[in-house]
Amino acid sequence: MKKLLLTDDSNMGRRMVKKAIKDIFSDDIELIEAQNGQEALQAYKDNSPHICFMDLTMPVMDGYEATKLITEFDKDAKVIIVSADIQSGAFEKTKQNGALAFIKKPIDVENLKSTLKNLGLIS
Ligand SMILES: [Mg+2]
Repeated sequence: MKKLLLTDDSNMGRRMVKKAIKDIFSDDIELIEAQNGQEALQAYKDNSPHICFMDLTMPVMDGYEATKLITEFDKDAKVIIVSADIQSGAFEKTKQNGALAFIKKPIDVENLKSTLKNLGLIS
């Protein structure tokens, strides 16, 4: 059973990521949801999820800051950014903050799957 943390301020965004996650992991997961970076940080501390899927643009605390604080809290945290923000520099900035990969919205399930495979997060 894998614990996954899904953080996105939009219902539609969470639904989209959830669908992709269910396609990839089948039902053998516990999904924890957060609606901003601050909730994500708290949920990370409370649950120690295996993988975090993180939106970037969110109120209260954005995904850049949350990724930074989560990976400072746990240097082995696995944070995957899922964002429509394709501004140049967005990926580099999240990488500097500790994210492992950047997946563009709308999600291509095969791309997400191969990214997770390459990171050794799924077999
Ligand atoms: Mg957002």
